[in-house]
Amino acid sequence: MRVLLFSHTTGYQLRAFNEAAERLGIELEFATDRCHRLDDPWQDRAVPVRFYDLDASIGLVTKRAVGRPVDGVIAVGDRPVVLAARAAEALGIPWHSVEGALASSDKRRSRTILAAAGLPAPQYVVVPAHENPASAGVWPHYPCVLKPVGLSGSRGVIRADGPAAFTAAFERIRALLARPQVRAARAGLEDQILVERYIPGREFAVEGVVTGGALRVFALFDKPDPLEGPFFEETIYVTPSRLPDAVQAGIVDHVQRGVTALGLTQGPVHAECRVTPDGAIYVLEIAARPIGGLCSRVLSFGDDRGARDASLETVLLQHAVRRSIDRYTREARAAAVMMIPIPQGGMLKAVRGDAQARQVAGVTGVHITAKIGQVLEPLPEAGSYLGFLFARGDTAADAEASVRRAHLTLDFEIASAVAVNP
Ligand code: ADP
Repeated sequence: MRVLLFSHTTGYQLRAFNEAAERLGIELEFATDRCHRLDDPWQDRAVPVRFYDLDASIGLVTKRAVGRPVDGVIAVGDRPVVLAARAAEALGIPWHSVEGALASSDKRRSRTILAAAGLPAPQYVVVPAHENPASAGVWPHYPCVLKPVGLSGSRGVIRADGPAAFTAAFERIRALLARPQVRAARAGLEDQILVERYIPGREFAVEGVVTGGALRVFALFDKPDPLEGPFFEETIYVTPSRLPDAVQAGIVDHVQRGVTALGLTQGPVHAECRVTPDGAIYVLEIAARPIGGLCSRVLSFGDDRGARDASLETVLLQHAVRRSIDRYTREARAAAVMMIPIPQGGMLKAVRGDAQARQVAGVTGVHITAKIGQVLEPLPEAGSYLGFLFARGDTAADAEASVRRAHLTLDFEIASAVAVNP
């Protein structure tokens, strides 16, 4: 069995897929648009695709598949999703539809389709980024959220509570969209800014997989820290959810309706939802990929043959080659992950307290991923994390308390960037 994995980076998640594939006896083949000038730095003979150049990339993928047939595809991260769907279609492999992949990676299409399906949807407009934000003051509703149509990971997502904040946010997003690194992605959506009503309430994430259009939920996560802006940095995910069963069922139902409407037919999905104080459920977005980076370690699976600690990547690889995953269930214990936020921009000088963090009861993993000397840029422009904290507990509250306690032991020394005047 061979799985073709589309990825932009060479991150932890690839390592997790590699480990899982080895154990399952599945061969992994990579298709990546990382810097090909480095001439196969991983020695993995990856197919050198360009995510924005779909037709040429499909040609390369199908050519490679002639001698090395592929049984399944996986996309890691948001950028490869459309190419992965096109490749799956060309290779005759069941995966998310091309329309679904396009819709899931375009916030305007998602909004239109979810609203047309009768799901609660905020009122929105799309404004070209080159427009004068003052003339874009056609938007009379506050608070609102501005966001680039084609970026992900909360980059450029900014809340505005009035016209002055609107103009400032608009200018800030325009500057972000003008960055060479953003333009290089050439997704074709770099010139559009979506403005929509702010949806009050708490936020939840759903991790699952779709098989023949039917959603199976691996975990429903509470996000216990309020996400009220002006920027929307994720911190903690905890599962199982502490929501009443009926609300949990409502969230799953809404995500299933969204999955169907968008055309996400086969493969991993990661959805974000908000539940308003009066109980309305808004599906903010459904991505056609698994939870990102190291975060997937918050999930661990057992099977009905007594095996334990199977990774999400193990389950997803089995699913990709269309083996049954019925026998896997998430472990019974509560689990939490904290994506350690960047407190301020600047250069990371030192990290202290990680040994103490490991000693905190319930903590199962402390991974500082930022490197000493790295220049950190927080949201809304950039936004990676300093690292990840994992915990297990008898209850969701225990697991959450453990990651919070571990976080308190950590001390990040960050030197503020000094502006150099010529
Ligand atoms: P991205 O794909 O970049 O993550 P999202 O549209 O999912 O973009 O927005 C990122 C985060 O911003 C959401 O998880 C949520 O916390 C917040 N957010 C986005 N849109 C709204 C909205 N209309 N009302 C309230 N919060 C929002």
